[in-house]
This record gives sequence, C-alpha cells and structure tokens, in this order.
Amino acid sequence: MTLSIFNTLTREKTLFQPLKANQVAMYVCGVTVYDYCHLGHARTYTAMDVILRYLRFRGYDVRYVRNITDIDDKIIKRANEKNEAYHEVTKRFTKAMHEDFDALGLLAPNDEPRATDYIPQMISLIETMIKKNHAYVASNGDVCFQVRTFKEYGCLSHHDIEQLESGARVEVTDVKRDPLDFVLWKLAKPNEPAWDSPWGKGRPGWHIECSAMAMKLLGEQLDIHAGGRDLIFPHHENEIAQSQSCTDKSFAKYWMHAGFLQIDKEKMSKSLGNFVTIRDILREHNAEVVRYFLVANHYRSPLVYTEDVMQKAKHSLMRFYTALRFLPKAERVENTVFEKKFIEAMDDDFNTPIALSVLFELAHEIQRLRDKGDEQLAAQHGVLLKYLGGVLGIMQADPEMFFQAGEGVDAEKIDALIAARQQARKEKNWGEADRIRKVLSDMNVVIEDGAAGTTWKLGM
Ligand code: AMP
Ligand code: ZN
Repeated sequence: MTLSIFNTLTREKTLFQPLKANQVAMYVCGVTVYDYCHLGHARTYTAMDVILRYLRFRGYDVRYVRNITDIDDKIIKRANEKNEAYHEVTKRFTKAMHEDFDALGLLAPNDEPRATDYIPQMISLIETMIKKNHAYVASNGDVCFQVRTFKEYGCLSHHDIEQLESGARVEVTDVKRDPLDFVLWKLAKPNEPAWDSPWGKGRPGWHIECSAMAMKLLGEQLDIHAGGRDLIFPHHENEIAQSQSCTDKSFAKYWMHAGFLQIDKEKMSKSLGNFVTIRDILREHNAEVVRYFLVANHYRSPLVYTEDVMQKAKHSLMRFYTALRFLPKAERVENTVFEKKFIEAMDDDFNTPIALSVLFELAHEIQRLRDKGDEQLAAQHGVLLKYLGGVLGIMQADPEMFFQAGEGVDAEKIDALIAARQQARKEKNWGEADRIRKVLSDMNVVIEDGAAGTTWKLGM
C-alpha cells in the first residue's frame, strides 16, 4: 500500500499502516445538536466522508464512528430559550442533521453514539483518573483533570505546557488548581438535566464523552481520530490526556484535521453569526453542486465560500455529466492510466483537486472517443468515470436527472406537496396522493412514510 496521510501529531505525511492489518478504527467528533448544521459542518463531514469512501475503495475494512453531542451548555441554553426539554431540542436537530447529511450524500456511520447513552462509561473513566491522581474534586464539587500530571500535554497542538499556560484565561472565580485544568464532571445547577454520579448529580464535561464513546466502540487504540482544525486544542489534546492517562497506551495513531470553511475571510461559525445553513444553501443549489464545491478543495486547506465558486462547481459538474450523457451500457474499462493517476493523487493524503483533474482528463477522453465514433470504448470509459466519481460521492445521478434538477431544492414547495399528499390520503383520494408522489419523485425527492410522519430526502 502506498497511501500516506498527514498526521497532526507528527506534522508529517507518513505511510498509512493501521494497527491491525486491513482494519481501520475511525472516530470523528460529531455535531452538537442545538441548531441547524451550517456549511462549515458540511465541509468537515464531507471531507471525512471522502476519506472513508477512499479507504473502503482501497480495500480497508473501516468501522466509522461519528458521535452526537446531545448534552452541553449550548443545548441547555437553547432548551431554556424555547421552553422545551433539552432532549426535544436534540431530537429535532438530530433529525434535521440526518436530512441535511443525507442530501449531501454522506454515508451513515457504523455507529452514531449519543453522549447521554454513555454516562456510566464516562464515570468509570473519571474514577480511574481520580484513582491514578490525574483528576481531583475541585472546591465547587466539579471534577477536574489535572493537566500537569500528564507529561505529554501539548503533543498534538505542538505547544509546551508553559506556552499554553500563559495563553489560558484565568477566570476570577476559578476553583481549579491550575488554569489549564479542565472539567470532567460538572455538578448540576437546579433544574438542569442531571445524572447520578459518585460526585453528586451532574453532567459530563464535553471532552470526556469522546474518550468514553471511542474506547467503548472501537477499543483503547484507534487508527484515525479526526475533526475540524478548531478541535486540535483543547478538545483533542484533552481527549489524549484523558484516554492515555487511563490506559497508558497511545490513543490514536493518526490525527486528521480539516481546514476551515471561511466566509468573508472569517471562519464560518454559529458564535460569529456568519453562517449559512446547509438547508439555506440547498434552496439555492443542487445538493451535488454543494458537495462538489466541498470536495474540489484539499481537505486540509481553507475553503472560501463565495457564489462565484459555487457557479464554478456547477459548471464543472455539468462538464462531467455531459461526458456521461447518452452512453450505451458497457463494462468498466480496466487498467487505465486514469485510474492509476487517480489512485496516485488520492494516495497522497487524499488530494482531491488532483484526483478531479485526472477525472477531467478522463471526461475529455470520453468526448474524444465519441468524436472518433468509438461509442463502445467511450461508454467503457464512462463507467470508469462514474465509478471513480463514486469514490468522491459525485456523478451518481442519472445525467438527465441532473440536468433537469435545475438549481436548488425548494424545501417549502416539497413540504407543501407532502402536506397535500397527506391530506389526499386522509380523504382516501388515492389517485391524487399517487399523482403527488410522482411529482415529488420527478423532483428527485424520495419520501418515507413512518410512524412519526413523512420525511424526505434527495435521491442520489
Ligand atoms: P460543533 O457542532 O460546533 O461542535 O462542530 C462540529 C464539527 O464541525 C467540528 O469538527 C468542527 O471543527 C467542525 N466545524 C465547525 N465549523 C467549521 C468550519 N467553519 N469549517 C470547518 N469545520 C467546521
Ligand atoms: Zn470529540
């Protein structure tokens, strides 16, 4: 194997060698579900989706875990603002996240653990840390990790502890022994969601959930641990400190981080208020165009969102679908230079821009063969183009569908059609209900009737 990966831990591109031959344990930190996902989330999770697809394409048996953070301060704040139970908020936004991620063609993880289902595992890790003198009960009753007891602290962010210390904000009301110490277990205030623990009713700090879920589902040592760049410090640094002080083993072999999606030269984020939700953008653009825009950039580079780049993404995709249009059925052509170059590019730390340039050469070759009148060979190359496109999660639609789909998805129109169909069904007007289903399916909308009502997603 010749796949090399840039590892944040070593700051080098190194040959990928999983801990167990051919098996890959991959954990990606998931969304805190208190609002709709924005394009920044789409950037990181699409990057990870391409990595997952490529590892599988290369024959690795990948177990992919992406968690859901379903308890934290922001969730509680949102629930209070809306006068809702915290789990109503997380349920609603988890459903919305799934709809958005389905639309972008993200593969479902093998496991999608929710933090609140792993409280016993978190408590057990915290008990071990206390026993091993890495954690203490602070004067306010919270349990904190004592950073200075973990010698490698700073290994991921490449800062030494003194540098980090001088950068840390010392809060006036601080009850910690050291400003860098972080909370493992937070005592509950009145009327906050709380779980029983040896230290009283409370809830976990953010970092501990990922150590607990990753180790429970994938074992004490992972091959790949990943997320967006902002997670390097403190979240992933703290995960290393917690996990390794419990197990005395290295936690993850490869740490991978996606570059930020930026808008107006700033990171897109909820706290800055400069975000565009995935649903907003899907109203304007076809989901595959959005995905193309995300995939066309190298995952570690910053990606700037502008309307201009979206238009470029659309035109690139149109060129690919034009090459795939009207081709007769064929077998995939094998052992081509295109496939070889595609693999070379992707083996080099998942270099999608180069991989796409190879696919453009392939599209060009299809046109050339066609112009020459060699329809059959053109079609064989077309099958290869679709196959390699699938590794990036693009070009899987029927070309005609793509050209007909037009711009974005009119979610309001879809919701209105679904409501009209419900009404028709209620009135036992089956003809009308079927007609509306057909209109939706012509719009490439797949509907699913379930106990909780009808949901929809875009077909790929
Ligand atoms: P959050 O829900 O804020 O905890 O974020 C979930 C994931 O999305 C993390 O891996 C973040 O690093 C990532 N993320 C958030 N904003 C951006 C952005 N603007 N660009 C890339 N990744 C982001
Ligand atoms: Zn995490």
